[in-house]
Amino acid sequence: MSKRIVVIGGGITGLAAANRIREIAGEKHPGLEVLLIEASERVGGPISTIRRDGFLIEEGPDAFITTKPWGLNLCHRLGLDGELIETNDKKRKTYILRGDGLVEIPEGFVMLAPSRLTPFLTSPLFSWPGKLRMLMDLVIPRKRGGDESVAGFVRRRLGREALERVAQPMIGGIYTGDAEKLSLRATMPQYLELEEEHGSIIAGMLRSYRQKSQARKKDSGARYSMFVSFRSGMSTLTDRLVTVLGEGTVRLGEKAIGITKSGSGYAVSTGSGTFDADGVVITTPAFVTGGLIENLDPETAALLGSIEYASSVVAILAYKLSDIKRPIDGFGFVVPAIEKRTLIACSFSSEKFPGRAPEGYTVLRAFAGGMLDPEVLDLSDEAITERIKSELGHVLGITGEPLFGLVKRYPNSLPQYYVGHLELVRKIASGIKKLKGLEIAGSALGGVGIPDCINAGERAAEKVVEAVYGQRA
Ligand SMILES: Cc1cc2nc3c(=O)[nH]c(=O)nc-3n(C[C@H](O)[C@H](O)[C@H](O)COP(=O)(O)OP(=O)(O)OC[C@H]3O[C@@H](n4cnc5c(N)ncnc54)[C@H](O)[C@@H]3O)c2cc1C
Repeated sequence: MSKRIVVIGGGITGLAAANRIREIAGEKHPGLEVLLIEASERVGGPISTIRRDGFLIEEGPDAFITTKPWGLNLCHRLGLDGELIETNDKKRKTYILRGDGLVEIPEGFVMLAPSRLTPFLTSPLFSWPGKLRMLMDLVIPRKRGGDESVAGFVRRRLGREALERVAQPMIGGIYTGDAEKLSLRATMPQYLELEEEHGSIIAGMLRSYRQKSQARKKDSGARYSMFVSFRSGMSTLTDRLVTVLGEGTVRLGEKAIGITKSGSGYAVSTGSGTFDADGVVITTPAFVTGGLIENLDPETAALLGSIEYASSVVAILAYKLSDIKRPIDGFGFVVPAIEKRTLIACSFSSEKFPGRAPEGYTVLRAFAGGMLDPEVLDLSDEAITERIKSELGHVLGITGEPLFGLVKRYPNSLPQYYVGHLELVRKIASGIKKLKGLEIAGSALGGVGIPDCINAGERAAEKVVEAVYGQRA
């Protein structure tokens, strides 16, 4: 039976969805065709690797996490295992800016709290009153019930210093968000589970550290580092997906402008015509998806439109190592909002992965903007570069000019999971469920990281195939 599924949006979610449909077609539905339409002239969304003067530069994401299986799993199916490269975990140090200097995050400190006591207690990152307040987490009674902001949770359990010095900049580095508004349950549910299960974050983390080190002693099997990338950069993944999808499957420059019901399926209109589809997977940003389903379900469209997005900027600067006084060791640093800088974070790309810069050089990726400083995006590229250069100059002791610098802007690119987000997602899902043969996926709903996006795209694809053929995919 010949059927066609249209995937809208060619970011990693859409590419993963289209690929899953291709796989299922090959396994059991030879008449199933997939078409992916992408508004811009390239796929991948923020995923983009370029080469310049011997440097390999990631303009957007530079790695993905391996503790969630969907990224590695897709790489395996695409025959990319041999292309994966790991971070050098011996250099796995991250710093926090404090005044004009960088202080190392104590070993075993994971996002919000320590999993080992000695490095935490001896660290200069926190004051003694700050440390004592954090340790009160061991005795503060647990609170059960509804959602809570990341900031509210950290202040309640670990105190203000823990929030300002670590939690805020760490979460700022991932969501470029405002910790006062971000939902703990939607962004870092593991900490809520620790509170629920152990009555204390620190007690839970100490226990889990002990268990993990015992398990590691027993099982010496090969494992990937926590983050991986590809020898030739992150675009390896999106390029391979386009290749396996085959000629004619991906149509660039094709912007979806509306979806209507048509017979038992849908008609997707674009600037250049209409595509009939038995099923549709929409993977565009939530505010676009809302507009596309406006005619089909205005209420769900409005819910999608209510999800806010942060805009950010990445400034990439290449330097001679001899022009930098401070050793470029570790993976980079994050900057607390209380330090009042333009910089949110800076990643030492060439330390994280091999092959990113020629011998004797380094490439720094500095992040700015986000929900706490959106005005940065109003500045010119030159003004942004100057500010970042000056701040990096002070922190790292840079004496020379960069070989080159480039600025990449990411307007409305990171969805914000505010308090109540999971409830919002549940309502959106129940609205979408009424539209047979149509699914939505993407970073706004089930996680912003690349593995989460892959998982969301693949599951949405399976559900649409199931609806189209009336059986489980
Ligand atoms: C600067 C930056 C750095 C990041 N770093 C990391 C990292 O290191 N690791 C990690 O795991 N994650 C990282 N992320 C997050 C991750 O990259 C994103 O969450 C993920 O790529 C989003 O994929 P997506 O397919 O859901 O959305 P997108 O990539 O935004 O894809 C949506 C696509 O839809 C297209 N589109 C929009 N409107 C239409 C329309 N009307 N018709 C057709 N097509 C349309 C867009 O052009 C776009 O290609 C980073 C994000 C950013 C912005």
